[in-house]
Amino acid sequence: MAPLPGLAGLLPGELAELLGLPPFRGVQIFKWISRGALSFDSMTDLPLSLRETLAEKYRIRTGSVKSRLEAPDGTVKSALAFGGGTGIEMVLLADGRGRKTVCLSTQAGCPAGCVFCKTGTLGFRRNLSAAEIAEQFLFAGDLSPGISTVVVMGMGEPLLNLAEFRRACAFLCHRDGPGISPRRITVSTCGIADGIRDLASGGPPVRLALSLATADEELRKALMPITKTNPLPLLKEALLYFQEKGGGRVTLEAVLLGGINTGGKDARAMAAFARGLDVVVNIIPWNPVEGLVFSGLPLREPSAGETAEFRRLLEKEGLKVTRRYRRGRGVSGACGQLGESARTCAEAPMYAPAQPAAERLIRKSGADG
Ligand code: SAH
Ligand code: SF4
Repeated sequence: MAPLPGLAGLLPGELAELLGLPPFRGVQIFKWISRGALSFDSMTDLPLSLRETLAEKYRIRTGSVKSRLEAPDGTVKSALAFGGGTGIEMVLLADGRGRKTVCLSTQAGCPAGCVFCKTGTLGFRRNLSAAEIAEQFLFAGDLSPGISTVVVMGMGEPLLNLAEFRRACAFLCHRDGPGISPRRITVSTCGIADGIRDLASGGPPVRLALSLATADEELRKALMPITKTNPLPLLKEALLYFQEKGGGRVTLEAVLLGGINTGGKDARAMAAFARGLDVVVNIIPWNPVEGLVFSGLPLREPSAGETAEFRRLLEKEGLKVTRRYRRGRGVSGACGQLGESARTCAEAPMYAPAQPAAERLIRKSGADG
C-alpha cells in the first residue's frame, strides 16, 4: 500500500482546498500541525468524524527520526528519513543565552562538490520538498519548543532548490504557524549568482550568507567547482544587487583550511572582494572530515595561531570579523560534517536522546519505521 500523503508544510488555504473544508478548518489544522501535533486525534477542536477521516487518508508528517546524537555542548543532530529512503540531517543548537537555532537541510546530498565538505562527497540525491524542509523544523520543535532562529546551512545548496525553499519559508513565517521573522532566517549559499538575484527581487527577505572560502578565483575554482560557472565578479555583482534591494548586511563565510587559504594574500583578496559591500566575515576553522584531500594532501584544521593571525590580517584590512562557535563537533553536527548518517541511516541507529520527550519520539518513530 502506498504511504499516506502528509499534511505538514501546507498552508491554511492549501489544507482547506485539499481537504474540501471551509477556510477556518484549514487554519485550525494548520495551527495544530505547526504546534507539533503528532496525531489527528489530538486536534480536539475538530469534530471526531473529521479527525477519523483525516487519520484514514492522511499522515501529519512523512518523515521519521532515525537517530539522534547529543553533543556535550547541547547540540543535537538528528538523522531523518523521508520518502524513498532519503536520509538527511538536521541540527538543533542552543547558545549560552537560551536562544535556539535550527539548522535545516534543503537537499539530500549536494551537487556542488566543494572539496572540504562532507555533504559534497555524497553527490546529489534529490531536492527536498517544501514540506520536508518544514518538517525538519517541526521535528526540532519536538525536542525543544521555542526555536526563534533558522539557519539554512545543513545539507545541500538552498539556491538550487529555491522554489521549495520559498514555500518552506511561507510555512515557517506564517503568523498562524511558527511565526518566525524572515530576518531570523539566514540562508547560506555557495554562490549561485542567479539565485541571489532571484532571492533579492522575489523574496522572502531573509538574511544571506555567502560561503566564500577564498576570494582567489583560481583557488576557489579548485576548492569550490561552482566557481567555474559563477565566477567571483558575477557573485559580487549579485551581492551588490541584493544590497541595493534592501537585503542588508551579508555574511561572508570563510572556512579556514590549514595552510591553504589563511595567508596575507588571501586576506587582501578577501578585503578587495568585500570593498563596496556591507559585510561581516565569519571565520569557520575547518571541521575535520576524514578522507578529504586537496592537491594530494589531506586537509587539516588550521592551528589556533593560524586562525588568530588570519583574523588579525582581515581586521588590519578593515574588515569586521566574527568567529563561529564550533558547536556540535562531537556528533559530527558542525558545519560541513553532515552526511554520515545519511549514508548509514538504514543501519542500526545510535540513540542518545536529549530529553525524555525525544526518547518517546524516537521510540514512536522507531516503531513506525
Ligand atoms: N550549501 C550551502 C549551505 C550549507 S554548507 C553553502 O555552501 O553555503 C554551510 C557552511 O559550511 C558553508 O559556509 C561551508 O563553507 C561550510 N563548510 C563546509 N564544510 C565544512 C567543514 N568541513 N568545516 C567547516 N565548515 C564547512
Ligand atoms: Fe554543498 Fe555547501 Fe557542502 Fe559546498 S559547502 S558541497 S555547496 S553543502
